[in-house]
Amino acid sequence: MVNLEKQVQYIKTVGPNRAELLNKLGIFTLKDLITYFPREYEDRGKVKKICECIDGEVALIEGVVVSRIVEIKMRNKAMYKLQLRDETGTCTALWFNQSYLKNIFKPGEKYKFYGKISSQYGRVEIASPVYDKATETRNTGKIIPIYPLTKNLTQNVLRKIIELGLSEVEDELEETLPEYILEKYKLMNLNDTIKKIHFPEKLEDFEQARKRLAFEELLIMQLALLELKNSYLSEKNGIAFEKNIKISEVINELPFKLTKAQLRVLEEIELNMESNKEMNRLLQGDVGSGKTVVAILAAYKAAKSGYQVAIMAPTAILATQHLESFTQILNNKGINCELLISSTTKKKKEEIREKLKNGKIDILIGTHAILEENVEFKKLGLVVTDEQHRFGVKQRTKITEKGQNPDVLVMSATPIPRTLALILYGDLDISIIDELPPNRKKIETYAVRKNMEERVNNFVKQQIEEGRQAYIVCPLVEEDEESDLKAVTSLAEKYKKEIFSQYRLEYLHGKMKPKEKEQIMQEFKEGNIDILISTTVIEVGVNVPNASLMIVENAERFGLAQLHQLRGRVGRGEYKSYCILKYEGNSENTRERMKVMCQTNDGFIISEKDLELRGSGDFFGTAQHGLPELKVANLFEDMPLLKEVQKLAIDILKEDQKLEDIKNKKLRKAVKEKFKTRIEI
Ligand code: ADP
Ligand code: MG
Repeated sequence: MVNLEKQVQYIKTVGPNRAELLNKLGIFTLKDLITYFPREYEDRGKVKKICECIDGEVALIEGVVVSRIVEIKMRNKAMYKLQLRDETGTCTALWFNQSYLKNIFKPGEKYKFYGKISSQYGRVEIASPVYDKATETRNTGKIIPIYPLTKNLTQNVLRKIIELGLSEVEDELEETLPEYILEKYKLMNLNDTIKKIHFPEKLEDFEQARKRLAFEELLIMQLALLELKNSYLSEKNGIAFEKNIKISEVINELPFKLTKAQLRVLEEIELNMESNKEMNRLLQGDVGSGKTVVAILAAYKAAKSGYQVAIMAPTAILATQHLESFTQILNNKGINCELLISSTTKKKKEEIREKLKNGKIDILIGTHAILEENVEFKKLGLVVTDEQHRFGVKQRTKITEKGQNPDVLVMSATPIPRTLALILYGDLDISIIDELPPNRKKIETYAVRKNMEERVNNFVKQQIEEGRQAYIVCPLVEEDEESDLKAVTSLAEKYKKEIFSQYRLEYLHGKMKPKEKEQIMQEFKEGNIDILISTTVIEVGVNVPNASLMIVENAERFGLAQLHQLRGRVGRGEYKSYCILKYEGNSENTRERMKVMCQTNDGFIISEKDLELRGSGDFFGTAQHGLPELKVANLFEDMPLLKEVQKLAIDILKEDQKLEDIKNKKLRKAVKEKFKTRIEI
C-alpha cells in the first residue's frame, strides 16, 4: 500500500528547498500533493492556423522554422527572434534573455509554439512561447493544468513534481466512496479521478473527475453536518434559563428602538434559551443590522439566570470593541464583564482565570485565547461566537466543552440565501435579521478607474475638511506576505508624504503586533487619525461612526461579499457615507461585479450575485466567501448536485444513523476525518 503520509521532501526531485516552497502552498505530504488541484486548464491540444490567430489570444501554432534565430542586444536585455511559417502565413516568435535558445531550433524543421499572440497590421507575433518539436508533447499537444503558485516555483516544476507524485501512487489509492454509491450515481473511481483531475486527456475526463470530487466533498459535508445536528437533538439536558428574567427591562433602556427583525430573532432566541433544548443557532444579519445588541441581551439573560457567558471574536480589536458595547449597556446591571486576549498581561490573565473559576466573572469576552486549556469556567451557560466563518466547528466544540451543554449562538455577517444556509449550516437552527435600523442611509458607491485618481483624492480631502475620517484598503496579494507588506507600506508612504501630507495618516497591516494594531485602531476611533490605510484586517465588525469614506484599491481583486463587508465599515453614524472602488482591468466580469456593488446595498442580493459571477472559471474554492471551505464544489453551479447529495445524505442516515453499517464504513471514516481537519482560522 502506498504511504500517503510520506513527506513531500522525499519525493523524487523535491528535496528540502523545494519542500519548503511546497509547504507554503499547504503541501506537506504525498496526499496533499496529489490533492492539490489545478486552478484552471490550458487547452494546448488544438493547433490554430497562423492566419486565424486573433490579437491578444493565447494559441498553439505549428510551423516550419524558416530562419536562424536572431539575437538583438538591447541596453540591458537581449531579444531572440525566430521566423516560422505554416500554409497560411508567417509568424515571429520572440523571447527575452534566453540565450540557450540559440542552439535549439533547426531551420527547415517543424515545431509547435504556444504563447500569447499579437496580430497587428497583418504582422503576427507570438511572445515567449513554450515549444515542442512537432512530434513531441512535453509542453504542448495536450490539456495542461495550471496550479496556484508561490514565489520561486514555476508551473513546469510543480507539474513535474505532481506527475512524479502520481506515479508513486500508481493505481493504489484506496477508494473513499462505497461501491453502491459509485454505481448508483455512475461516479468515476478514485484512482482515475485523481489522475484525470490533473491530467485530463479530454475535457469530458475533467468534468467526470470534477463531478466525482464535488459529489464526495458535498456528501461528506452533509453527512457531517446532519450527524452533528442529530447529536444535539439526542442531548436532552440543555440548560433552561430563567423564564422570569425579562430582557425587555434592558430593551426599554436602550438608546434606540430595536427593529422588528431584531425583536423577532430575540424572541426565537429567548424561547430556545428557556426551553431545556440545547440551543445551536446561527444568527445571520447583514453588516450593521445590529447583531451585537442581540448578543448582549442573550448574555444578560444567561448571566442573570446564574450562568457564565463566553463571547468569542476573531480579532482583538473586535473583542475590545465588544467589551465596550457590553459594558455600556450592562454597566448598571450588576454584571461583571472581562476581556481576555493574547496581549492581556500575564498578571491580569491569572487574575481573570482565578475569578472565572470562582464565578466572579459573568461575561468573558475574548479571542481564541479563551480556548486555552487553563481557562476554566465555573458554570458556562452560553457561548456566542462572532463572525462565524473565522471559527471552525472544532473550535465551537472546544469552547462548548468548557461547560455542560451550554447554549450556542453563532453570529455571521455573511448573508447567504436562506435555501443555501439551510443546506450549509445543516447543523444549526437559523435566525435572520433581514432589516437594517431605520436611520441607515444608503452608502453611495462609485467604481472608478485610475484616471479619476485626482478627483478621488480631492474628495477625500473635502470629507476630511468637513471633519470626517476615511479608510483606504489595499488587497492582499496572496502567497507572499513580504510583498503585501511592501505594497501597503509604499502606498501609505506615498499618501502620507505626497498626497495627504497635511493630514494625520496611519497604516495597519497583518504583520503588526496586536498591541500596535489596537493602538492605531483606538486612535482612529477617537478621531486622532484622519485616514487609515490598511489591508483587510479591518474587514470585520469595526465600528467608527465618524468614518464616512471607504476607498478600496484594486477592488477587482476582492470578492463581492468581501467588498460588501468592507463597505459596511462606513455609514455607521449620522453622516452621509461613500464607498469608492478603484479598479483596473476591463474584463466583463469585473465590470459586472463593480456594477452590482454600485447598484445595491443589499447583502443578500450581493451574495447571490457573488456566487453566480464566481460560477464559471473560478471553480475551485469558497474560502473567501465565508462559507464552509470547499476545495472543488461550487455552490452556485453545483446547486443541483448539492440538492441531490443532501437527499442521499438524509436517506443514508435514516437507514444507518451512526454510519455503523459495514457498507458505510468508508463514509464513517471520511466524516471523522472531516471533523479532524476542519479548523478554519
Ligand atoms: P453588526 O450586525 O454588523 O455586528 P452592530 O451590532 O455592530 O452591527 O451594530 C451597528 C451599529 O448599529 C451599532 O452602533 C449599534 O449600536 C447600532 N444599532 C443596533 N441596533 C440598532 C437599532 N435598532 N437602531 C439604531 N441603531 C442600532
Ligand atoms: Mg458585528
